Amino acid sequence: MLISHCFIGAGAPYNINEILFTEALQIKLNNKDMEIKDHKITGATYRETPNKGGIIRPRYIIMHYDGASNATSALTWMLDPKSKVSAHLHISREGSITQLAPLNVKCWHAGVSFWKGLNDINRFSIGIELQNKGQEVYPAKQIAAAVDVCKAIIAQYPIQEILGHSDIAAGRKEDPGKQFPWSKFKMLIKKDDHGTT
Ligand SMILES: [Zn+2]
Repeated sequence: MLISHCFIGAGAPYNINEILFTEALQIKLNNKDMEIKDHKITGATYRETPNKGGIIRPRYIIMHYDGASNATSALTWMLDPKSKVSAHLHISREGSITQLAPLNVKCWHAGVSFWKGLNDINRFSIGIELQNKGQEVYPAKQIAAAVDVCKAIIAQYPIQEILGHSDIAAGRKEDPGKQFPWSKFKMLIKKDDHGTT
């Protein structure tokens, strides 16, 4: 979660009109030709955030939920210099992808974080925010977009692991939360991939 004091989710009940992830495996992934050029994902909307640091060499992808109630409030917040938060990518529940900084530039999504002897994981990671209040089922379209994005990133950078914010900020953060379909997500990424580990 980006900023718990601003986007505390209300724990909304499932929207019965939404496609549940159990149906996602029947859905073709969105874009097999997604590419990265000059550290930007082709086809993503690009809106550069001021909230960023220097050059990084990413080795992890960190999955988050934004805790926001609509598709744009987290983006607006991450584009505001006052927030001092950002992520490289935001994916709406409809699967729309917005990139906020080049993938080799440090964003400010992880906060106080540790993993395998490293701290300040922003220095080593690409952050992906998924629009979700926290308790909602992740729609198939959104997961498919995240899979496509991760496959493109893995093809381009020496990614070692895909982790949750809850992995690197244990006890402090819960996202991407219990609804995030980790095993299916990783299986879809590995399926005819570009050579991930
Ligand atoms: Zn987070």
